[in-house]
This record gives sequence, C-alpha cells and structure tokens, in this order.
Amino acid sequence: CGIVGYVGGQSALDVVIAGLKRLEYRGYDSAGVAVLADGQVASAKKAGKLVNLEKALVERPLPSGTTGIGHTRWATHGGPTDINAHPHIDNAGRVAVVHNGIIENFAALRTELTDRGHDMSSETDTEVVAHLLAEAFSSRGDLAESMRQVCGRLEGAFTLVAVHADEPDVVVGARRNSPLVVGVGDGEFFLASDVAAFIAHTRSAIELGQDQVVELRRDGVRVTDFDGADADVREYHIDWDA
Ligand code: GLU
Repeated sequence: CGIVGYVGGQSALDVVIAGLKRLEYRGYDSAGVAVLADGQVASAKKAGKLVNLEKALVERPLPSGTTGIGHTRWATHGGPTDINAHPHIDNAGRVAVVHNGIIENFAALRTELTDRGHDMSSETDTEVVAHLLAEAFSSRGDLAESMRQVCGRLEGAFTLVAVHADEPDVVVGARRNSPLVVGVGDGEFFLASDVAAFIAHTRSAIELGQDQVVELRRDGVRVTDFDGADADVREYHIDWDA
C-alpha cells in the first residue's frame, strides 16, 4: 500500500517511519521496516497500526543505520499477520523487500523456489521476490542488476523496493503499473509510492516510468529499463502544499 525508502546521512529508521506516517491516510493493516546496519539486515514488522510497530521498536530497538525501507500493507495474499507484513527477507537474511500490488504468477514461482530448497515463511505473493533477489544476487553481486533480472520474471502490477546487506549504501526500486517516485536531496535520496512521504525533506523529484528500475546511492541515482538500458531522467519541482 505505502512504500518508503531512504539512503543518506540521517537515521533511516526515523526518515522511514515519518514517511510512513505521511502515507497513513491511504489505509493499511500492517507495517514494517528494515535498515542496514553493521553488515546485516535488521527488521521489525507488526500487524495493525504504525503505533504497534513503534512499540515493538521501543521494546526491541534496531541498530541505527542510514539505509532503510518501510511499508504499510493492504493485504491481498495472506491475512494481516505479523509474519505476512513486509519487509520479506530471504533465508540467509541478506535481502529485504517491500511490495505494493500483486505478483500474479507467484504460485508457480513459489513452487519453483521450494523445489530448489527455499523455505517460505509467509503466505504472501511478495515473499518469492526476496528469494529470487537473493539467488540472483549470489550469482551477479549487484542488487540493481538482480532486480532487473527478477522483474523480467514477474507478472502483474508491482512497486518493489529492496536492500541487500552486501550493498550497504544502496536502495533499489522497480515499478510496473504502480507508482514510484524518487526524492532528490543533497547527499540523500528518497523513494516512495507518494511524494507526501518525503515532501518534508525535498521538493525535487523524479517520477519513474513504466518498467523501470532505479538504483539510489548517496551520491546519485541511475534509472534503467528492465533490460539495463539507461533511461531519461527528468527532475521536476513538487509545488503543492503539504
Ligand atoms: N500483495 C502484497 C501482499 O498482500 C502487497 C499488498 C500491498 O500492496 O500492500 O502482501
């Protein structure tokens, strides 16, 4: 339902939670976050309102990091439980992904992955993406390239945002038939399903086109199509009052 990503110099957790609050008006049934810290993925997720997630984070704080992603979920596949909340993480705990939309061919992908020895922990259509990204990354070692490869296998409408512990200063997003906007800051970048999530930080934005992948680093962004060809990037000014 709502997606936020951040890479920069601030606490990613603070930026992501504040962004998710700005998206609360859209309605949701669960929420979760992941940050990269000390070479690991650290995450928390809870059914119910953001306040439940915030309570969980007080009880079990995450280590602080400057790269992170967050999600508010409107369940389509699998009930609104803690386990089905996003982010979804691969078996090795190295990649975390959040998703808006529906992966139509998830059942076939799930069978394929289970046959290759992956253990699924949720009932969502989303979880297959975490496992596919982990596999792709282990042969390619590049999250954006892995995302392009995985997107070529997905059917349906989706916005995906992912991080990998081996690329601590990178956030990767992808979209097909579902919105995703980059917020351009000074030494920091934001990703969100709606500009409301980052308007407090910047009014410069880049709207991703259909079937595009974006790689955010502290020092810049790269946008490509699913085949890896560089796309035109047009920055625009957000001029509405938030
Ligand atoms: N289909 C996914 C799920 O049920 C994503 C739902 C959403 O867009 O929030 O978990």
